[in-house]
Amino acid sequence: MAELQLDHITKTFHDDDEGEIVAVDDVSIDIADGEFLILVGPSGCGKSTTLRMVAGLESITEGEIRLGEAVINDKRPQERDTAMVFQSYALYPHMTVRENMSFGLEESTDLSDEAIDARVTESTRMMGIEDLLDRKPAELSGGQQQRVALGRAIVREPEAFLMDEPLANLDAKLRSQMRTELQRIQEDLGVTTIYVTHDQTEAMTMGDRIAILNDGILQQVGTPLECYHEPENLFVAGFIGEPSMNFFEMRLEGDRLVDDGFEYALTEAHRESIGTTDRVVLGIRPEDIEVGVDGSGSHHYEVGIDVIEPRGDENNVHVTFEPAAADPETFVATIGGMRQATPGETITVGFPPEAIHLFDAATERTLHNRSLETIEDVEVVTQQ
Ligand code: ATP
Repeated sequence: MAELQLDHITKTFHDDDEGEIVAVDDVSIDIADGEFLILVGPSGCGKSTTLRMVAGLESITEGEIRLGEAVINDKRPQERDTAMVFQSYALYPHMTVRENMSFGLEESTDLSDEAIDARVTESTRMMGIEDLLDRKPAELSGGQQQRVALGRAIVREPEAFLMDEPLANLDAKLRSQMRTELQRIQEDLGVTTIYVTHDQTEAMTMGDRIAILNDGILQQVGTPLECYHEPENLFVAGFIGEPSMNFFEMRLEGDRLVDDGFEYALTEAHRESIGTTDRVVLGIRPEDIEVGVDGSGSHHYEVGIDVIEPRGDENNVHVTFEPAAADPETFVATIGGMRQATPGETITVGFPPEAIHLFDAATERTLHNRSLETIEDVEVVTQQ
């Protein structure tokens, strides 16, 4: 097990039509020994390229990758002591499960047959696939194939696991089961792990920290709760969380933010954070919007319900400041699943001052994040 350091790494591809493509741009991340780091971002943001550079499947244009004390830039993939798990499983079709799992060890180590057998047995036990050892991949379900692929990474006993959307091909139920199983195994083995995904739930629930990439540029590295409640910029605020944070681009007029649809009276703390910025984006998460308030407060607004999206445990209510418009701009408020609401109805919503985020519209940097008196308590609860 070892610390993994990405030190100012850049990857540039040359494309005949598009010229230079900077897929990964000066990214630095220190991943602690035994840490589970989730690398997340929209399609094409450079997640897989970053992982492939660590695995040795892609050369590094600039920067240094260190595993433990050693710089691994020029090491071949098989010399790196990392084990990669792909979305496509990448099993050898003509080999049995046992052969798939032992092949890498036979090729790259001088372990005895007995030692290899012992590792394969232990790893198949961990993955619950002891009964499948003599089958070939074509005789396995997708979920079983993914277990074999994970087992094959585990037998290697590598310094680091590199996982590229390993659960993406599984159905929702199996995926959620494998999520918890993988977390448990990673914790038991204590192997430093980078896990690439674009799945919100995986990003929020699986890792110790999340690293968010956009356009090859690292946006923020933090615990899931830090990234959710204390985003460093507009991109992270909008990317982390489903449904997304609502944004309103507004002008500063004295102590108020003004938009075509509504005005927002700022507190002293809000006003101080804004400084001389004149164009501000106000952000508020759907679950922070109070629905059905009495309408007497200064942060209460009358809105029309446009669409309701029932999700069982809760409902996403799409509401608008301009109900009469043919194609109204809407934002989302989340209410409990048992609460009734009807499209076309007028309701009052509240934007509590302690729950809003403010961003500089020009630079997209965060000016102010919501108050978090309880974040320590929340973290303690999730760790138990
Ligand atoms: P996805 O979630 O869709 O898999 P990603 O975040 O993993 O996306 P990458 O596959 O790392 O993204 O790609 C990052 C950028 O680099 C994209 O613009 C992609 O088109 C480009 N790219 C990746 N591989 C190559 C290549 N071999 N040649 C040219 N451009 C490439």
